[in-house]
Amino acid sequence: MRNIAILGATGSIGENTLSVIRNYPDRFKVVALSVNADIDRLSAQIREFKPLAVCVNDKARAAALSKKIKPGLKVFSGLGGLEELVRDKRIDQVVFAISGASCLMPLVSAIESGKDIALANKEALVMAGPLITRLARKKKVTLIPIDSEQSAIWQCLEGEDSRAIKKIYLTASGGPLRKLSRQALKNIRLKQVLRHPRWKMGRKITVDSATLMNKGLELLEAMFLFGLDAAQIKVLVHPEALVHSMVEFIDGVLIAQLSITDMRIPIQYALSYPRRLESRLGEIDFYKLAALHFEKPDFKKFPCLALAYEAARELGSLPCVLNAANEVAVAEFLKEKLKFTHIPEVVARVMRSHTHKLNPTLSDLLQADGWARQEAAKAIARLN
Ligand code: NDP
Ligand code: MG
Repeated sequence: MRNIAILGATGSIGENTLSVIRNYPDRFKVVALSVNADIDRLSAQIREFKPLAVCVNDKARAAALSKKIKPGLKVFSGLGGLEELVRDKRIDQVVFAISGASCLMPLVSAIESGKDIALANKEALVMAGPLITRLARKKKVTLIPIDSEQSAIWQCLEGEDSRAIKKIYLTASGGPLRKLSRQALKNIRLKQVLRHPRWKMGRKITVDSATLMNKGLELLEAMFLFGLDAAQIKVLVHPEALVHSMVEFIDGVLIAQLSITDMRIPIQYALSYPRRLESRLGEIDFYKLAALHFEKPDFKKFPCLALAYEAARELGSLPCVLNAANEVAVAEFLKEKLKFTHIPEVVARVMRSHTHKLNPTLSDLLQADGWARQEAAKAIARLN
């Protein structure tokens, strides 16, 4: 029996994780859950999964929940509460399914206390990849990826020597705007952007998929997880989203991972690793499959991807700055206060005005994150 904590339990990855666990009550037990503010959904999850501890980021909602629940369930609140919760000795594995930079310190705390990690959140790794992977090695903690592309690469590399990797093809569905012209993107509305053709996900990552910043964040994520250079990673648009990524080795052999487009597959593998458990989610029917398509991404139409490659070549504090500026710009776009094409503009302006730091400490990165958020707000004010 593996005792699991799910951070971001009410989100798209969080609920999919609970759905996997529901199928294997004899293998996985939910011992802790965390949310931002949605205590109604959390209450239903508490009734069903009976965790030992929960954390609500919003302090007033945490207090309201404390009044409603039975004694015996510990309620933490705020970011500090989450850092404390993940250190609980009864937890074996922590699933990071909160979106955004706020995952960083709880992730550090969980690695420091030696927990197994299943990582969906990409922003924390993008911010502080070298520090996180170094800490994980020191604590002998394995970072098991949930993101479908990273899970694919992870599976392609099982039993392989990482020195034999020539390159990685990171596949991208291309998002909902792939076929639109650059001109059409200028007036695109939020509703169209949120209509992703292949994946049903949270709002922030759905916008990132449309700008291709999601693939840019994954480029950085893959570099840190697998110890690669930016030049070794090629983004490949693959609209059917069945090949979740591929690894090319030095002898010319390519290994790809395919499965149906359902996040419960990589989530289940991250929980059951190194075993495989039976899945009843369906399979690819190759007899019905007309064709698989692959094409080069359009860097001019989707400048976020070019910006991510720039950050990936420079590294240091630049990926952290790219991520923070993007988070602020996407939040404004989601409030319909910023145009879609201004998202890369904001990120580019903040990156240009940043004084680059090559080997940043955690405190340097937290400072760079705060600085980039302020600069992004200023850039947005100037653009509007
Ligand atoms: P959602 O927006 O659907 O869910 C976010 C979850 O995190 C919710 O439970 C939310 O709680 C909680 N939360 C948000 N902000 C905070 C905070 N500051 N403190 C504590 N909890 C918070 O996101 P997704 O599930 O789509 O994505 C989660 C992460 O996984 C992202 O980093 C994303 O990039 C990554 N990912 C997602 C994929 C997907 O298919 N969705 C695929 C690959 C990676 P509440 O409900 O109370 O607001
Ligand atoms: Mg992905």
